[in-house]
Amino acid sequence: MNPQSTDFESNQGKDPDHYLFVGRSYLRDRLHRFAETLSNTYMFFGPPGSGKLELALHLATMVLCPYGGCGRCGTCISISRGEHLDLTILRRSGNFIEIDDVRSVLRDAVQTPNYGGNRLVIIPEIHLAQRSGPTLLKTIEEPPSKTIFIFTAEAIEGEILPIASRCIQIEVPRLSDAAIKSYLMTLGTLDDQTETIVEASIGRLDFAKSLSQNPAMVDYLNQWLAVVESTPHTPTALSELASILTEAPPLSSESETKSQGRKKRDELDLVLMGINYLARQLSKANLRTTFDRQEALDALSRAARSLQLNVSVALAVREAVFSIALL
Ligand SMILES: [Zn+2]
Repeated sequence: MNPQSTDFESNQGKDPDHYLFVGRSYLRDRLHRFAETLSNTYMFFGPPGSGKLELALHLATMVLCPYGGCGRCGTCISISRGEHLDLTILRRSGNFIEIDDVRSVLRDAVQTPNYGGNRLVIIPEIHLAQRSGPTLLKTIEEPPSKTIFIFTAEAIEGEILPIASRCIQIEVPRLSDAAIKSYLMTLGTLDDQTETIVEASIGRLDFAKSLSQNPAMVDYLNQWLAVVESTPHTPTALSELASILTEAPPLSSESETKSQGRKKRDELDLVLMGINYLARQLSKANLRTTFDRQEALDALSRAARSLQLNVSVALAVREAVFSIALL
């Protein structure tokens, strides 16, 4: 029997979004206050994968659900599927939010709500707006009275400052490991891979979602442990290992329809997850090693930095593998 099944059972019947509030219950209190005294514009900001869009959808259920956001009625379910008639979510056509993307949601924004309450427009990742900021700004300066705009952003800076200054801002911190585990419990997929997924997700909900949908990715992450565990560390063996680790499996089954830019970012994310996973195992002394842990961790963090600076995946992986193995 799975030792975690009791935890899982005890989560049944709870709000399906409860994982969003693990370790940050004050966010639930704030959303309650927002739903009671509605304003027209909100902005959730925080690091990638912190659950900003999920929180925006949660606020939408609190506003539109006749039971205040029960998470289970037809309204809540249609919101979670993005199918509610009074909810519009901007879906980018490319890597950035273009003016046509904005115009299309603004056409919905001015319509009278179908159910007589409010209409919600969610615009995720507003920091990716290109030349569309002024059009949006004009609308939110004098919003249709029944329409509520919810933006998400990774940071409030640069071109989105004028929009942000007209919004009620909510900072969303990174999720804890406990929150990620709680999310996995809601999927009912607790198994041998749970610990790996929690460790490798580094508090990112998007990572946890991808990993839980794709067992091949979890296998890939475990291969990173070979960088410290396998011997001998001959140059040929290391080159082979580096090329295996360079070839990350696709991040999700829908990858065929993704843009090249998005695919590249997914590939980087997965390698980054591998590096972080190995670093966490190393720092917890879970691995047998013959070399200095701190130096190995430094090498991994250099490789992670290289990746974030958009160095090629193959180069960053090689750098990580060789610098650790040759310590
Ligand atoms: Zn409901």
